[in-house]
Amino acid sequence: MVKFSNLSHSLAGKLIIAIGSLMVLGSLAFGTLFIHFEQRQLVENLVNYASSLADLVNRSIQYGMLSGRRDLMRQDLQMISEGKRVRFIRIYGPDGKLRFSSEAPGVAKAPGASKTQGAPYEPPAIRVKDINALATTHSIVGAGAQKTLLYITPIKNGPRCHAAACHFHGKGNNVLGVLEEGFYTKDVDRVVSDNKIGTALIGGLFILVISASLFIILYRLVSKPVALLEDGMKRVADCELDEPIDINTRDEMGLLARTFNSMMQDLKLYRESRDHWAHNLEEEIKRKTGEMMRTQESLINTEKLASLGRMSAGIAHELNSPLTGIITFAHLLRNRVPDSDAEAREDLQVVIDQAERCAKIIKGLLGFSRGAGFEMTQIGLNTLLESTISMISHQSRFYNIKFDLRLSPGLPPVFADPNQIQQVFLNMLMNASDAMDQKGFITITTRLLPAEDGRRMIETEFTDTGPGIAEADLLKIFEPFFTTKPVGQGTGLGLSVSYGIIKKYGGDILAKSVPGQGAIFLIRLPAREKGDEDADEKHSGD
Ligand code: ADP
Repeated sequence: MVKFSNLSHSLAGKLIIAIGSLMVLGSLAFGTLFIHFEQRQLVENLVNYASSLADLVNRSIQYGMLSGRRDLMRQDLQMISEGKRVRFIRIYGPDGKLRFSSEAPGVAKAPGASKTQGAPYEPPAIRVKDINALATTHSIVGAGAQKTLLYITPIKNGPRCHAAACHFHGKGNNVLGVLEEGFYTKDVDRVVSDNKIGTALIGGLFILVISASLFIILYRLVSKPVALLEDGMKRVADCELDEPIDINTRDEMGLLARTFNSMMQDLKLYRESRDHWAHNLEEEIKRKTGEMMRTQESLINTEKLASLGRMSAGIAHELNSPLTGIITFAHLLRNRVPDSDAEAREDLQVVIDQAERCAKIIKGLLGFSRGAGFEMTQIGLNTLLESTISMISHQSRFYNIKFDLRLSPGLPPVFADPNQIQQVFLNMLMNASDAMDQKGFITITTRLLPAEDGRRMIETEFTDTGPGIAEADLLKIFEPFFTTKPVGQGTGLGLSVSYGIIKKYGGDILAKSVPGQGAIFLIRLPAREKGDEDADEKHSGD
């Protein structure tokens, strides 16, 4: 919005002042010329009137002279001089001396003199060098109320006069005398003064109306759009790019606003793309950092598992034979104890159970090292899953569990030891059964993942309807000996052994869970591609 205090500095204000000044000057010039010409016209009218009156006076003189009725002539002249605008009528003889004056003798005043000014005045004799050469003249004398138009004209000798019987004026006398008429000019002055006031008022009003209209027009066409543009520029400076400038005219201001708006739009797009790019970069950095951390964790785990594998191979080798001996002899001993000694039989059963538990742990530990039956071959994961399900479905712990197999057809094979992969699958199924208290649903899905870095992976997903895994536990479940199962039931080796097996084949194993909504395990194994045979040979020889 334009502040009025700043109007004189604004474009509209400057234009109004410039145009207003020009209009004042123009009006003054026009008014002066108008008044001047009007005054001239009015004076001319008065002169015409004087001329007509002179004509009338001439005729009256001629009539009076020719008829010899000088008294009548005087009466006529006196009557004519009583006209509203006539101040006096004087007649001079050819010698320039006053012969007649409409004023009472002794009351005549000098033309233009006020009534109170000076003593009564006798009009002077007109000094004329050559009366025959006298021309009609008029002039304005005096000021204010005494301002008078003097009209002086010769009284010509006409044929009627020099041919008259009196022969008073011969044919050689061209001019018989001089007629002097005085007229009040106050009517002319009043009209001129009225017109001056009228012209000034109309001029002033005209200037006022034009200035006000100019102000409104300039405000709408210049000041308002300029203020809107200024606002828009301030918004851009403050990085507010959502509100375009609202000028929809077709003139230069509209064009400027449209150009400015499109610049604003470009700026907005540029800023959005920059923000998007920065956000993406941030996301990408987060993703890569996550990947790096997972890789690092996985390396640490692999390292742990490798050392555990080496250690467990030695322990397993050393403990396996004595444990088998303990279990065998404990069985023999128990068989030898009579049924009446129930206490001894129970104690021996405890020995057998604990020894068998130890054997189970040893078996688990053996999973970390390559067993004797390690054999690499092409495996169809769908077939392996189906045979695993049919194998376990006869066990009592799976009686109340429903399997939903969603196997993707036409999957490429994987290259691995089928026993080890089956061990991993069994582990998943046993854990799910344990988590669901042996009743619920297990969904198994296989799918081929899109190639990443030129490598395709086959994903096997195990989903159960158990309680799921607590968020804190998700980070630990692949660690060896981590278990949430009661003592005697869990060894905490199933998932860490599975992890080691899958990693060994270049795959990945992940767990996801929303506590209370079951657990999901994803096992990814590299698909065996055509031309992989050489690599597989090499792998199997490791
Ligand atoms: P164990 O089964 O002997 O406890 P694992 O390594 O196989 O050892 O499992 C480790 C832990 O992972 C389990 O004790 C259990 O807490 C958790 N777990 C594994 N599978 C599931 C599952 N499907 N649902 C809930 N928890 C699971």
